[in-house]
Amino acid sequence: MSEFAHQAYIGLGSNLNGPREHVEQALIALKRLPVTRLLAASPCYASKPVGPQDQPDFINAVARITTRLSPLALLDQLQALEQQHQRRRLRHWGPRTLDLDLLLFDDLSLDLPRLKLPHPAMQERAFVLFPLADIAPELTIGATRLEDLLLHMKDHDLQRL
Ligand code: ADP
Ligand code: MG
Repeated sequence: MSEFAHQAYIGLGSNLNGPREHVEQALIALKRLPVTRLLAASPCYASKPVGPQDQPDFINAVARITTRLSPLALLDQLQALEQQHQRRRLRHWGPRTLDLDLLLFDDLSLDLPRLKLPHPAMQERAFVLFPLADIAPELTIGATRLEDLLLHMKDHDLQRL
């Protein structure tokens, strides 16, 4: 645990067994993480799956927290929550009851096998960027403004619920 509070963004996704329920339960669980506070949660969105299309649509949301956990300790907590939702890693980009991605942690850049920051695919994903804009319109990711990333997002199949 570090001395200072860090600001982090978490991407939530689910496409199995009552996906909206999983996302809402996960938001409640984030509130209960040690030395962590939930500052904001976006509305839920429905999105088409990335990769294999023979699976249900996803429900996505994004949360902003402050935490005194280290980045890896936070990832441990997120992965434990995924396990509690009976997530099974059956195939890459396959269906899942709960996916929790650590999108940003302060302005940190990390390139560990277990943890890459900012989350590598977030800049191309409408289901991350639009909910982020709901709760942090002024955000910059690395040197890029969220606002500018959104200008380049076309043909996204995303529905705010
Ligand atoms: P995806 O979310 O891309 O569908 P998974 O959730 O199965 O894939 O994650 C695969 C691996 O990605 C995990 O073992 C995790 O340690 C690693 N990983 C690397 N960077 C991150 C990050 N920023 N947030 C969450 N997991 C990450
Ligand atoms: Mg993930």
